[in-house]
Amino acid sequence: MLRSEFHGEVVVVTGATSGFGLAIARKFHAAGARVVAIGRREDRLADLQDEMGDRLVPIKLDVSDTDAISEALDTLPPDYRDVSLLVNNAGFGIDRGPAQKASLADWDDMIDVNIRGLLHMTHHLLPGMLERRKGQIVNIGSVAGRAVAPNNAVYSATKSFVLQFTKALKSDLIGTPVRASYIAPGAAETEFSLVRWQGDEAKAAKAYAGYQSLTAEDIAEAVFFTAAMPAHVDVTELE
Ligand code: NDP
Repeated sequence: MLRSEFHGEVVVVTGATSGFGLAIARKFHAAGARVVAIGRREDRLADLQDEMGDRLVPIKLDVSDTDAISEALDTLPPDYRDVSLLVNNAGFGIDRGPAQKASLADWDDMIDVNIRGLLHMTHHLLPGMLERRKGQIVNIGSVAGRAVAPNNAVYSATKSFVLQFTKALKSDLIGTPVRASYIAPGAAETEFSLVRWQGDEAKAAKAYAGYQSLTAEDIAEAVFFTAAMPAHVDVTELE
């Protein structure tokens, strides 16, 4: 049976200052979890603290700074150390045109956040989950991890990485009580498109015109479902 409560559990969410991550943090907090909310924007983290009060530890952290990840996770307050759910959600894509016009710096940034950040968060928190014999890692990919769309080469490739990594990790974890799941959202209205087109509001709005896009809350429901399934149920992939 699906459970509806996460009382006493520690849930770490990267990219919790906006979009999916914010909705995921809210959803698990409402279900009683202690939430570690990670993002770079301090004002947003302060808003989150005001909104949620206790059972929240906001951490200003750039997940591409791998030393900072170690420091932040090593210095979590004692009652936030036994993490039972890690949601690797922080990520972005940048579109400046086709691959032949792309900037190498953008490519590096996407790899650093979407891949390297996710790997370091995972590598850091997985041993504790195995030791405590309890835990789950939910990685947020994208439909772009499989489909090819214009101007998306490296973003798509980072999400393909997340897909293959998560499936291989899940396979390695068979026989342990720790689960790994991949969730691939389709187009959802968040700040994603604003970031993608470097703050161009008109272009971002156009991405959601003329159809019913997904919402951040839809994705939070999908993550919650994945985590709320009984421990013997592995949701390997949800698109
Ligand atoms: P948003 O732009 O609304 O949110 C992205 C979040 O990631 C923000 O909280 C941002 O926080 C955080 N973030 C970005 N870079 C870093 C970093 N270096 N270190 C820490 N946090 C970071 O987008 P979404 O909520 O839509 O995106 C969430 C995930 O979903 C991403 O991985 C994205 O690729 C994926 N996705 C989105 C889709 C969509 O249509 N919206 C579709 C499919 C997948 P801050 O700026 O404060 O650091």
